[in-house]
Amino acid sequence: MTYRLLIMGPPGAGKGTQAKNVSADLGIAWISSGELFRQTIRSGSELGEQIASYINNGNLVPDEVTDRMVADHLRALDPRVNGFLLDGYPRTLSQVGALDRILAEYDAPLDAVIELEIPDDEIVSRLLLRAEKEGREDDTEDVIRHRIEVYHESTEPLLAVYRERGLLVGIDGMGTIDEVRERLVTKCEAFLASKNQ
Ligand code: ADP
Repeated sequence: MTYRLLIMGPPGAGKGTQAKNVSADLGIAWISSGELFRQTIRSGSELGEQIASYINNGNLVPDEVTDRMVADHLRALDPRVNGFLLDGYPRTLSQVGALDRILAEYDAPLDAVIELEIPDDEIVSRLLLRAEKEGREDDTEDVIRHRIEVYHESTEPLLAVYRERGLLVGIDGMGTIDEVRERLVTKCEAFLASKNQ
């Protein structure tokens, strides 16, 4: 049994950390749009420079660039055969459409969309802490606040779309990393099992 999953939530919700752990627990590939972008930036290419200018200002990378990058990865994986956990994509309604099209090509629909829920003020303090530890250039206070606005404006509306499709699984993102991991895997497996009955 393999699963095709998305994980969503505001910046700083702990998506990346949980996505890495949960994909390992479920034996599926972890595909993080943010990580793929950071790899491209590190490669020093011209595209990497353009991408950095969006990310470092807390803006979204244009859909066209993002859609192509994720589509390439999904194709290489073959989503019909191999499961995945997409982390950070889609982030706009247009990206939802692009993802739908590519998954339809493979007749490989999504099984669940995990929403990690945490309050806004917790987000800011977590991201400022991460800034101290990791030194990510998009983790300064102004940029963080802008990223939260972008999340509410562009990405939060996607939750309603997936709720309507009956795919949304809400997870309380507060607590230790291990507590959230356990909560997430338990609830997600129960949801997937109930769908497959
Ligand atoms: P976080 O979860 O903390 O926001 P990510 O690593 O997921 O961090 O993303 C970092 C940045 O990469 C985002 O703020 C955005 O600029 C860019 N990015 C990531 N995914 C997408 C996407 N699907 N569409 C557009 N931009 C994206």
